[in-house]
Amino acid sequence: MKKLIASLAAAATFAMLASSATAQTYPDKTITMIVPFAAGGPTDTVTRLVAESMSKDLGQQVIVENVGGAGGTLGAARVAEADPDGYTLLLHHIGMATSATLYRKLAYDTLNAFDYVGLVTEVPMTIVTRKDFEPTDLKGLIDYVKANKDKVTLANAGIGAASHLCGMMFMNAIQTQFVTVPYKGTGPAMTDLLGGQVDIMCDQTTNTTKQIQGGTIKAYAVTSPARLDVLPNIPTTEEAGLPNFQVGIWHGIYAPKGTSPEVLDKLSKSLQKALKDENVIARFAELGTKPSSEADATPAALKAKLESEVARWKPVIEAAGQYAD
Ligand code: ASP
Repeated sequence: MKKLIASLAAAATFAMLASSATAQTYPDKTITMIVPFAAGGPTDTVTRLVAESMSKDLGQQVIVENVGGAGGTLGAARVAEADPDGYTLLLHHIGMATSATLYRKLAYDTLNAFDYVGLVTEVPMTIVTRKDFEPTDLKGLIDYVKANKDKVTLANAGIGAASHLCGMMFMNAIQTQFVTVPYKGTGPAMTDLLGGQVDIMCDQTTNTTKQIQGGTIKAYAVTSPARLDVLPNIPTTEEAGLPNFQVGIWHGIYAPKGTSPEVLDKLSKSLQKALKDENVIARFAELGTKPSSEADATPAALKAKLESEVARWKPVIEAAGQYAD
């Protein structure tokens, strides 16, 4: 018995030493940050800015890999299954919380398959259409959609995506369902909106601001409580006639469950530095958003956010009664 206890204690000490030795040398090779959407979209844009800054701080490349499809759940599943060694991370958004209810079956257990690095940013959404779409304001858009519900199309990045959530909120608010066209991300969806192949989209300002400013798409409202400095002429949803239609798309960085606390701490500190990087702050501002605070860029804050958001959206999604299998 004594022997067994001694060898268990030795094994535990060895595991602890091995983990702190790994943490001391971490990172000693390239880190992969998975974006669960296609390249060129808003999540991709945010991730590339943060990854570039973290690469400089960590002294190792943080490369971005796009694993789009199924509203972000394929990319999340990839990270849930990866080795918890700190070399495969996930940058996901609010969809991490909504897909926990939207999907009857997920390949991972949302609240138990991940460790947390921290929150990154919260981005408003914009309701936009192709440039030559007739309606001139949100009220006109709502009337048009109601009158043409069989022919208007809404682009989204699949069930579980922020664009899906916003589209679902829009349809429920105006009590009209219309056709959705799913993409692997709103990067490719934006290409089709610009080309006039789809009519409407609700997407993060990190994807739409430049296009709205350039007049290549039309914007009807922002989903933030106040107007944005970068889009001063675009009314809030509240001003434009859709009260209670506010949504902020928070983003966070996750690691597979079982990642050592020392590694998570290193990553979280590096994230905090990236969010104070002048280039990141300036680029975020141009895109209508700002970095999360240092207190929010922590494992505890992201864990609390995910848990509260799963609970917040569950009844909303259940009331809408729309699920994916
Ligand atoms: N904005 C997209 C969404 O609908 C995702 C993306 O392509 O970044 O969630």
